[in-house]
Amino acid sequence: MIAVDALVKRFGDLTVLHGVSMNIGSGEVVCVIGPSGSGKTTLLRSVALLEAPSGGRIAMNGRVIATAEPTRAVKRAAREVRSDIGMVFQHFNLWPHMNVLDNIIEAPLRVRRTPRDQAIAEAEALLAKVGLSDKRDTYPSQLSGGQQQRVAIARALAMHPAVLLFDEATSALDPELKREVLLVMRALAAEGMTMMVVTHEMNFARNVGSRVVFMDAGEIVEEGDPAAFFDHPTTDRAVRFLRQFE
Ligand code: ATP
Repeated sequence: MIAVDALVKRFGDLTVLHGVSMNIGSGEVVCVIGPSGSGKTTLLRSVALLEAPSGGRIAMNGRVIATAEPTRAVKRAAREVRSDIGMVFQHFNLWPHMNVLDNIIEAPLRVRRTPRDQAIAEAEALLAKVGLSDKRDTYPSQLSGGQQQRVAIARALAMHPAVLLFDEATSALDPELKREVLLVMRALAAEGMTMMVVTHEMNFARNVGSRVVFMDAGEIVEEGDPAAFFDHPTTDRAVRFLRQFE
């Protein structure tokens, strides 16, 4: 579904991605792990079209959607697929002045032009799915971090994305609240949602991921089946990284 090809990203003089290539197939849960500063978030934000590449390209279903010097056709393709790519951020990013329901229906109403009744019905179904039916009229500031993150997931799902990207979605949460968000993510994976997950949760990567991508210093160092990676990492860098979780 998504193909990243020789992606380079520079911020000024700093090269953060050194020619990264990877694919995300339909229904896959690709977990991106690696040390702090290795470029995981930058890779994810590039796939989300929130960062422009300095080199290489990204394609979705065979159409190029990002290059260093995008042509008109590439820009048009990016506009067309933007709302098919859902994103869940580390810090929830809910609109504080809107209640939970309005947070969820805002984009479907404005971007997808979904009729209001239908958007509300879908939002209620999504709230049931993430276990928050009773919070429909609540404002974000009255919710726990875990609840806010589950609303953020419902909001992303309301756009019927083809792929959902998670940027350290549980890193800001206490362990108990982490658990409730990870359970929702696990349920989505079981339903066949295509997901790219930047995470520090090794148990999630191992048990839920269909593939693990291990990054270090701006490149993909190892990639493959989670059980094989965690039980038999083949590079010194992966061995050193995994040691800290023993
Ligand atoms: P962490 O696990 O700590 O979140 P990460 O692997 O996700 O790290 P990135 O957030 O992608 O790493 O950052 C990679 C490098 O790029 C870091 O050195 C970071 O300081 C740098 N960087 C990221 N965004 C910017 C930016 N907007 N401007 C300048 N440098 C940036």
